[in-house]
Amino acid sequence: MLVGGCAGVLLPEGDLLRDVYLRGSPATPTVALTFDDGPNGRCTEAVLDALRDVGAPATFFVLGENVAREQDDALLARMAREGHTIGVHSETHAVRPLFLRGATAAELGAARAAVDAALARAGVLERPAITLFRPPFGFLTNAAAEAAREAGFHIVEWTVSVGDWERGRRPEEISEAILARARPGDVIVLHDGDLTHHRSLERCRDRPNAAATVRLLVPALLARGLRPAPLPEVLGLAGASGAVVSPSATRWPDSGAHEPPSSDGDPSRSRSRGVVGRSGSLPAQAPAV
Ligand SMILES: [Zn+2]
Repeated sequence: MLVGGCAGVLLPEGDLLRDVYLRGSPATPTVALTFDDGPNGRCTEAVLDALRDVGAPATFFVLGENVAREQDDALLARMAREGHTIGVHSETHAVRPLFLRGATAAELGAARAAVDAALARAGVLERPAITLFRPPFGFLTNAAAEAAREAGFHIVEWTVSVGDWERGRRPEEISEAILARARPGDVIVLHDGDLTHHRSLERCRDRPNAAATVRLLVPALLARGLRPAPLPEVLGLAGASGAVVSPSATRWPDSGAHEPPSSDGDPSRSRSRGVVGRSGSLPAQAPAV
């Protein structure tokens, strides 16, 4: 179902994109740091340590299957207690469920329940509502959008992705590539995990660059006047603590003129991402990779 090389964007049907967010207002000098595919043991711990040391908030789009291992409960609790936002990246990182409303609803429900249970086990009494969903590979379907909306989720894509998952990359390269592109309102994606492999309980094996990238990137962003801020604040979502309502936050298909996220997406077997019609048969965005 996922193929690359398809030019152009197939406009979705109906109001598919009503609750899809790409970026915040370009008039506000903030950016959002986001991490996908965790929680993942020592890699996530190292990222949390780095964020603490540089004083930056982030959003973690976790996989329910990773959370449900019950090995990272304390890390989930740290996210909540240290001012980060927890969203879900589905239960399994599979694409197939996104073509079925019921299957997506099940994935979202399982992931949300897994996070809540982990926080409860870790003794977090005031548990945050989980309302942000980043689909696996950023892949968007009508069925998934409907399921997300029904379950009270906002869908969040991204605008800056520089292939942080690629082998052989160094933190300096990743940070510089992000800095070359980052503009006010951007949503930056990095990875603290690798799908559901979860191989970093004893040492950070999967994503050894993530924490070091944070330590390089955040001071450099600040030096340019770009402040990492909570994703709900950057997107101007109501109800976010300290949220600044920014009507010009870009949702598809508002001011972005149907421009897809200008990125090459997630680590994936197939790196295509796309908006598909109700038939679910036509990937639309041409990936950059
Ligand atoms: Zn992912």
